[in-house]
Amino acid sequence: MAATEQPVQETASGKQEFAVENPATGEVIAHCPDLGAADIAAMARRGREVQPAWDALGFEGRGRILRRMQKWVIDHQDEIIAVIRSETGKTYEDALIAEISYGAAAFGFWAVNAPKYLADEKVKSSAVLVKGKKLMLRHKPLGLIGVIGPWNYPLTNSFGDCIPALAAGNSVILKPSEITPLTSLKLAEGLRECGIPEGVFQVATGLGATGAALVDQVDMIMFTGSTATGKKVMQKAAETLTPVSLELGGKDPMIVLADADVDRAANTALYYGMFNGGQTCISVERVYVEAPVYDEFVAKVTDRARALRQGDGPSGSVDVGSMTFPPQVDIVERHVEDAKAKGAKVLVGGARGEHDGGYWYEPTVLVDVDHTMSAMMEETFGPTLPIMKVRDEEEAIKMANDSPYGLGASVFGRDTRHAEAVARRVEAGAVCVNDALINYSALELPMGGVKASGIGSRHGAGGIRKFTQQQALLVTRFATKKDPHMYPYSAKMTARLGKFFGFLYGRGKRD
Ligand code: NAD
Repeated sequence: MAATEQPVQETASGKQEFAVENPATGEVIAHCPDLGAADIAAMARRGREVQPAWDALGFEGRGRILRRMQKWVIDHQDEIIAVIRSETGKTYEDALIAEISYGAAAFGFWAVNAPKYLADEKVKSSAVLVKGKKLMLRHKPLGLIGVIGPWNYPLTNSFGDCIPALAAGNSVILKPSEITPLTSLKLAEGLRECGIPEGVFQVATGLGATGAALVDQVDMIMFTGSTATGKKVMQKAAETLTPVSLELGGKDPMIVLADADVDRAANTALYYGMFNGGQTCISVERVYVEAPVYDEFVAKVTDRARALRQGDGPSGSVDVGSMTFPPQVDIVERHVEDAKAKGAKVLVGGARGEHDGGYWYEPTVLVDVDHTMSAMMEETFGPTLPIMKVRDEEEAIKMANDSPYGLGASVFGRDTRHAEAVARRVEAGAVCVNDALINYSALELPMGGVKASGIGSRHGAGGIRKFTQQQALLVTRFATKKDPHMYPYSAKMTARLGKFFGFLYGRGKRD
């Protein structure tokens, strides 16, 4: 699901700009510059100029600014939530739980853990030719990182990578989604107030072409978005051999085993299926329930889905917000209509929401679904929960793995050892047992997709090392003028070396 191009208009001074809408009302709330390749090249020069001084500040100096920013996010949370809501249409709670809490945690986490994850490592070797030498592995910042973000979590998804990239000593250019650029501009204001040197963190607003121009200018590109755009980014990066890390789409399955706590499974499926209007890369997108608990599960999900309040109200007054990206409503509608045409039943919702303007789709529960339907095979990215009855766990695992995607998954069962064994057979980057999605908040735990869901991962040691170059160091401190294997070669020395290697590696019986 790639964003369709936004209309661009020319300002009085001849600059290009695009409009930003509030998707809950359809009102235009801002205009942002649509930056071109020359603007991006100038920003890249600036970013490169200031990067060595940023690196020289060390972990402590950079960490001080990141820790100040952690407090800034908390002190300004209502302002930030207002900006996020104005361009995404999400509820106050969705913004607080998944954006503010993540952002604040991440600024502190990387300030504390960057030095640990990127510390020089002593390496021991069994190679005889390097005996007595000092071997080290160091993680050195790559230089200038380009981060391209999606619209569903403008703070969490984009800054989830900008923060570790900065903590590692890189300068960063962030290209936020053209649907939600305002959150990034707000956070850039915070970073400036917290003392980040000018040019170290820059926001490049623009459409897809701005993202493509960024790929040409940076030392590494961190992309989060659709699988279709991810492939284009990787193709473009191949021209300059620029390393990429890709966090892409998903179609996360939930498996409900016959011994599951059906209440917990139903509540979790509904919450993480509808959270953020279903616009989460690791939303519960499809559910497989073993036959003995199917009716009870469907009844519980249906009852609770009917009680959901959808709208644009203040904190506590609504549960599910609007769609963020207008064409997303068409995608959700297409999936529901296709399922209906192929025999699915709609138990709750199943239509565009009636509101005063904006882009809405009702929380929807579907049953009698199968794998001929796009609702089960393609990423829906909306407030839908298709539920399929399965004979047994073998069928559930087979169905869960019958997908081009492999981002997240969940398994429910009271016998957690058994549920874990099932979880280990699911093809996904992360699998939860008796839970879903919440693994994302554990910044120590890697999160990344397999199959068409991506390359690389976020969080943990790998989530910061991807922004560095591994440099191997070998230091010879005490040595003779010449090692025995050096020139000139002599038959005598060669024979001795041959014997020596035979002694080291050729003794003993083998099967
Ligand atoms: P998208 O692919 O349409 O756009 C993502 C970004 O790429 C935007 O900033 C866009 O302007 C930019 N872009 C568009 N064309 C480009 C090009 N040719 N070169 C470089 N950049 C270009 O995705 P979206 O619709 O904004 O986001 C939703 C998608 O993101 C869903 O598929 C969702 O699953 C995925 N997602 C994945 C994760 C994850 O961690 N795996 C997290 C959030 C969202």
